[in-house]
Amino acid sequence: METIAVGKYNLNEEEEKKLILREYRALLRALKTRLKKGDKALVRRAFEIAADAHIDMRRKSGEPYILHPLAVARIVVEEIGLGVTSSICALLHDVVEDTEMTLEDITREFGASYAKIIDGLTKISNVVDLKADTTIQAENFRKILLTLADDPRVILIKLADRLHNMRTLESMSREKQLKISSETTYIYSPLAHRLGLYEIKSELEDLALKYTQPEVYWEIVQGLKETKRERSRYINEFIRPIKEELAAQGFEFEIYGRPKAIHSIWNKMRTKHVAFEEVYDLFAIRIILKSTPEREKEDCWKVYSIVTNFYKPSPERLRDWISVPKGNGYEALHTTVMGIGGRWVEVQIRSSRMNEIAEKGLAAHWKYKEGAPSAQESKLDSWLQHLRDTLSNPDTDTLDFLQDFKLDLFTEEIYIYTPKGDMRVLPKGATALDFAFDIHSELGARCIGAKVNYRLVPLSHEIKSGDQVEIITSSKQKPSEDWLTFVTTAKAKSRIKYYLKEEKRKIAEDGKDMLQRKLEHMKVSLSAYNVNELCAHFKKPSPLDLYYAVAVGSIDLKDLKAFTVTGDKLVQPPKEVKLETKHLVSDEDLMKQKPAKGAELIIFGESSDKILYKLAQCCQPIPGDDVFGFVTSGEGLKIHRTDCPNAAQLLANYGHRVVKTKWAKNKEISFLSGVRIIGLDDVGVIQKITNVISGELKMNMRSLSIDSHDGVFEGTIMVYVHDREELDRLCQRLGNLEGINTVERLEAQS
Ligand code: MN
Repeated sequence: METIAVGKYNLNEEEEKKLILREYRALLRALKTRLKKGDKALVRRAFEIAADAHIDMRRKSGEPYILHPLAVARIVVEEIGLGVTSSICALLHDVVEDTEMTLEDITREFGASYAKIIDGLTKISNVVDLKADTTIQAENFRKILLTLADDPRVILIKLADRLHNMRTLESMSREKQLKISSETTYIYSPLAHRLGLYEIKSELEDLALKYTQPEVYWEIVQGLKETKRERSRYINEFIRPIKEELAAQGFEFEIYGRPKAIHSIWNKMRTKHVAFEEVYDLFAIRIILKSTPEREKEDCWKVYSIVTNFYKPSPERLRDWISVPKGNGYEALHTTVMGIGGRWVEVQIRSSRMNEIAEKGLAAHWKYKEGAPSAQESKLDSWLQHLRDTLSNPDTDTLDFLQDFKLDLFTEEIYIYTPKGDMRVLPKGATALDFAFDIHSELGARCIGAKVNYRLVPLSHEIKSGDQVEIITSSKQKPSEDWLTFVTTAKAKSRIKYYLKEEKRKIAEDGKDMLQRKLEHMKVSLSAYNVNELCAHFKKPSPLDLYYAVAVGSIDLKDLKAFTVTGDKLVQPPKEVKLETKHLVSDEDLMKQKPAKGAELIIFGESSDKILYKLAQCCQPIPGDDVFGFVTSGEGLKIHRTDCPNAAQLLANYGHRVVKTKWAKNKEISFLSGVRIIGLDDVGVIQKITNVISGELKMNMRSLSIDSHDGVFEGTIMVYVHDREELDRLCQRLGNLEGINTVERLEAQS
């Protein structure tokens, strides 16, 4: 019998068949309660088609390809809660893309509705096109959002697909790992968040962290493991009295503590500048009640009252998402109480129905479920409608829109009332003008002010949760450029830009006429060729910009004299030769080069070419850091750290410009790097620090600045180091000094 051994995977053909069948049966079991008459045959048919289509294909890990669609189908059913149709589409999701099968075949076998979903999935899968340029990438993201608005099942299946790919990312090349992880944090986890799929969102982010910053990831995993025993003891002690009281009052419930996600612990460490040991809220307590829809609200508040009988709550940290659920449907009561030993502990209270929504997302049980949609369900619908509106506007600049849209996905929400008492959900920070655009684009465009709680306020007034807002309009009003500075929602921004562009187009019409007359005079036509030459000469990105510049007088038509004419063609005047002097100056300080040692050397990929590069200022990489090269449009190759704050955005949007990069061994160049220290104020502290740096480690220090207040000092040290190892040694030595609490590498220079 033939044994297949590829990578880690090692099974013979017989075992392989068994494994595939086992997975298939597991899928059927998961679907069991949902299978109606005839469904089983359909699922079987889909499985057979997929198995057949992928028969000769293997994944990078070596396992048979069919295990992937099977796994995706199971995630779709078990973790997202979708039904038969979606699981069939999940089984077939790679078939049209990767094999001879066509959409017509799918339509013939299963019907048009299936083909439509698979078509959507196939379109989206093109996103992982490493060679596509930025606008194509953005256009693809837009496609994702459009299909989402069209049939959310497509995006839910796509999320399952992505989740399985992330779970099995191990066998991919480092480059692919980075690229796929970045794309995941850039677009998929925000989407999962917006759709209320918290579990999946968390797992996606943890996995992305695992591949983009393995050191951080494993440090936290290790930390969690080491503190597990202590944590369980604390949790047990904390929940014991609550448990007893809940039981005494006859509640049916589950109570447990669970560690927070790794990426959220990391966020805390990073934003609060603390070490793992100092992140106090490593876990949250969850109480899940069995209750009925009529009683659940009351029950949750009863539980709240019991919890706060034992532990004092922090009044600012009560979140009532039961009376007003989040926009993505999330419902729960959150409170933070003072636990034993003076530790703040977050407690989340919800019914089992709310819990299901929290885990699987509202999307799962809406629309595909019997019965009329509830209030929250229609809220998600209206969000989708809004998405559809914005995207269907052909003039929206996709890149900008995505940026704004992503912000919308993550920000906190506020609740605003119309004069009639209807509630609208807006992101925190929204202004009166955002509110006007949220209601209707025309209302936004004509808005001159607003009344907030009956008081007159300007357009730029930031509205707060609970405000009642009435918009005042004038037919004479027109959007202006400065509006963009105080609106925050994607919708308002894209509408304003659209109006401004329309305005510009009208003005440009005049410019076009002026230019045409001038050219007639010169006896040449306004041909595409000539317009192109003019754009090139005046450095205008498009004819529209050219015409506009002519109309507003920023291009003087007299300057056209410099052109010569041959036949019907304009010929650009010869360019003045200018010496480039500003080159490299800005980065000069980043690298202190021992004179003329060929400092800018680095090895790329396999070819060991020596190429010129610059170090990105945002993350200041040094040898030993995990890095990638990025081809910029004007400044050559820039080296970024893979944990650079900009990395995700760069890798996800401009994958084709990323170059594999490795440090050359070269102890002769030193790099400027920064360290931040925090400690207790002490007269000798500067002395001690400089002793370590200059005396003990013999490093070259460029600057040291220390700020001290109320007995605590914070300092920044800039030193020249050769590599990561040296920097780590410095951090370690400084950390060992008495009185110093935190030592960390300086992130982006601000
Ligand atoms: Mn797939």
